[in-house]
Amino acid sequence: MAKRAVFLDRDGVLNELALNPQNGEHESPHETAHVRMMPGAALAAKRLHDAGFVLFIVSNQPSFAKGKTSLENIHAIAHEVESHIRATGATIVRAYYCYHHPDGTVPPFAGACRCRKPKPQFLFDARDEFGIDLAQSWMVGDQDSDVECGRRAGCRTVAVANRLSAHRRPGKEAPTILALDLADAAGKIIAAGERPV
Ligand SMILES: [Mg+2]
Ligand SMILES: [Zn+2]
Repeated sequence: MAKRAVFLDRDGVLNELALNPQNGEHESPHETAHVRMMPGAALAAKRLHDAGFVLFIVSNQPSFAKGKTSLENIHAIAHEVESHIRATGATIVRAYYCYHHPDGTVPPFAGACRCRKPKPQFLFDARDEFGIDLAQSWMVGDQDSDVECGRRAGCRTVAVANRLSAHRRPGKEAPTILALDLADAAGKIIAAGERPV
């Protein structure tokens, strides 16, 4: 039987967006000391895992390419967030990170790439490597670019209403489902599996 997946955006869904005092924006944390999990997110991931969904993280991490932090910090933050999920007993089969940015200044990640959301490349990679049925799968994120990514891959989509990233959800993309947070999203995804969407 083909496997169903939930592709999880990370910043603003699993962990809180962190205030960058340099520009006043809320974005990815740039050091592990600034990692805070969103309330209920790790347990929501476990709930999806227990419901039979294969879990992936799909995240753009351009801060090194933009000269904002080190690759060591980016890797340590990823490990920290993933550890909180795994501590619940949930498995993250693969975390896909795009380190590129088209306006980046730091090689080798400056410039366009094939993997930055809203491009759906990582979802196709997961389909090919792990036998995921994308039509039975979901992309969950807090930005229109996440919803676009999921739609382009043929997945159903959830927009999570993080207030700190509301300006990144201008509403050009219509998600399958709106949710308050990942806990709400998990409940709705599981319910949708028990009836036609
Ligand atoms: Mg996000
Ligand atoms: Zn990339």
